[in-house]
Amino acid sequence: MSATISSVQMEAPVVDFLKAPKKLLIDGTWVEAASGKTFGTYNPATGEALATVAEGDAEDIDRAVKAARRAFDSGPWSRMTPSNRGQLIWRLADLLEQHLDEFAQIETLDNGKPFSVARVADVPLAVDLFRYMAGWATKVTGETIPLSTGGHFGYTLREPVGVVGQIIPWNFPLLMAAWKLGPALATGCTVVLKPAEQTPLSALRLGELIMEAGFPGGVVNIVPGFGETAGAALAAHPNVDKIAFTGSTEVGKLIVQAASGNLKKVSLELGGKSPNIVFRDADIDAAIAGSARAIFFNHGQCCTAGSRLLIEQSIFDQVVEGVAAEAKKIKVGPGLSPDTDMGPLVSEEQLSRVCGYLESGFAEGARAAAGGKKVNGPGYFVQPTVLTDTNPNMKVCREEIFGPVLVAIPFRDPEEVLSTANNSIYGLAAGIWTRDVGKAHLLASRLRAGTVWINCYNVFDAALPFGGYKQSGWGREMGREVLDLYTQVKSVCVAIN
Ligand code: NAP
Ligand code: MG
Repeated sequence: MSATISSVQMEAPVVDFLKAPKKLLIDGTWVEAASGKTFGTYNPATGEALATVAEGDAEDIDRAVKAARRAFDSGPWSRMTPSNRGQLIWRLADLLEQHLDEFAQIETLDNGKPFSVARVADVPLAVDLFRYMAGWATKVTGETIPLSTGGHFGYTLREPVGVVGQIIPWNFPLLMAAWKLGPALATGCTVVLKPAEQTPLSALRLGELIMEAGFPGGVVNIVPGFGETAGAALAAHPNVDKIAFTGSTEVGKLIVQAASGNLKKVSLELGGKSPNIVFRDADIDAAIAGSARAIFFNHGQCCTAGSRLLIEQSIFDQVVEGVAAEAKKIKVGPGLSPDTDMGPLVSEEQLSRVCGYLESGFAEGARAAAGGKKVNGPGYFVQPTVLTDTNPNMKVCREEIFGPVLVAIPFRDPEEVLSTANNSIYGLAAGIWTRDVGKAHLLASRLRAGTVWINCYNVFDAALPFGGYKQSGWGREMGREVLDLYTQVKSVCVAIN
């Protein structure tokens, strides 16, 4: 059995999943929202409705937190061995891998990204993350501490932080759920997850696999709904011990305020305006192709997008022409079409945001070396765009656009480019293209960014910590570092004389 949306073939399990009611996962059971309300989720390639989803709000968040609290304080989860927790996470990874194409299609339908990308990036990276975190479940340890007090023995216990609220965005819906859930489960926390309103579907399907894998009820609760209601209630909830948020810097600040009521722990993964620096001694062809991917991957809807291309003066025209030529080659279309390189933006709202930035750039004197317009017709498509004739004071050079829009800026020497690169409220990522090893490492140490890519860009690995300097965030996800976000240290002191 199969069906079509916009004349593209869909897998039978996806069709069945879309038809089935979309409820909230609370305490191991799928339930309606207490209010009975629902909201629609849409295919951004067509604007057509995909599914109707139960709309959680404060009351549902409260039910979910109570379930997570019980599961943490007294459920079977609290007595489960680390090895068994690891096995459950590994089983979830296996199930996800078995449903790779199905998840890639759901992601494409809900978010717009090409199926070909979702099946080699989003889903496998989520599988990898779960496997990596499954391994950590048995390796979260304290230390013995030599004390100078005399007659005492000291050691630390590293314990799960408790009930965790997790709020995620729409740009990598499944992968962001995995980044958040993996470490929380490995460390023994329990979770209330709120997916983005634009893209709740893959998290709900993942919830089904979580139950199939055998996680006890209440360990993972999933409550789709709106940020202003469900999200805000989760961030403010007095029985939530920690909140982990990925999204805009603006909302990140609201999360911090909401969390202050009970001083819950907060980790934030926020926006960026990442500099990508090309020196004249780089492999220019590789730098051009890599710089185009740095901005256009996931339609520029990446917190790490290399959205400021800083090019050494003598090669400025050559690199701009090269990246513009790459932009013009990109085939924009529905994500389920096999020949699509770039799908639609996630929503009409995001399309108008991005178009607003384009208008502002042109009004301030920028020129498009490629693209510059939205694509007419149904769906929320915009052309991959390269802007020149910019200056650092323009809005398009300072603010996160979160779309396929690159600003190109020339520089004369390493000191100048460092100062331009670091001149941002953000500090999430940076790229450097050069064959000079010494220069690359010197710059890497002086760039104020949580990740620096040298002669590559947007390379992610579950083992490599990720997070932001400055207003790009608090804390590091992935790697060993993320365990610190989900655990707290207890010191134990024993009299031994
Ligand atoms: P956003 O508002 O920051 O959304 C991120 C998540 O936070 C969503 O789940 C959202 O729910 C929730 N949320 C919104 N308001 C909240 C509140 N007051 N309390 C608690 N949770 C709340 O981002 P957006 O509106 O989707 O996108 C706006 C801009 O943010 C983008 O254009 C982009 O610049 C930036 N952004 C950055 C990232 C990143 O990875 N750094 C990701 C996405 C967007 P709803 O979905 O219901 O709003
Ligand atoms: Mg929002």
